[in-house]
Amino acid sequence: MRIGNGYDIHKLVVGRPLILGGVNIPFEFGLEGHSDADVLAHAITDALLGAAGLGDIGMWFPPHEPRWENADSMKFVRTAVQALADRSYRVINVDSVIICERPKLAKYFPQIRARLSEVMRISDDQISVKAATNEGLGHIGRGEAIAAQAVVLIGQS
Ligand code: MG
Repeated sequence: MRIGNGYDIHKLVVGRPLILGGVNIPFEFGLEGHSDADVLAHAITDALLGAAGLGDIGMWFPPHEPRWENADSMKFVRTAVQALADRSYRVINVDSVIICERPKLAKYFPQIRARLSEVMRISDDQISVKAATNEGLGHIGRGEAIAAQAVVLIGQS
């Protein structure tokens, strides 16, 4: 078995959708980025690649490549899972945390887990999604950004 961890952060701005784990979350701000800026999908992708020693998301999906402009970041997750499968690894479980002051996310967790489960081809009980605030501290506490962390465990399939 091997373990991987991923971290990402994106700035909250007006005029962008807020997409977390492939799910559109109604909110007055969205995340800025070249792709759809899905911070959770990016953290999970990085954890998947890291678990297999395959580098990081920036190497696989260079942020300035035109083809990733406004890209659905769940494609990155799907590609990383496939890269693992190609090397005879399967995902055992994922645990993640989204760090933001607002909006409240708990009611979207079932949808996010269902979407991740579909893309990662594992059951939703192998996927944990949690949220935490930054207790009002720093840029996340001021509502200027959302961060996400993920760990994944993979094993030989
Ligand atoms: Mg990112």
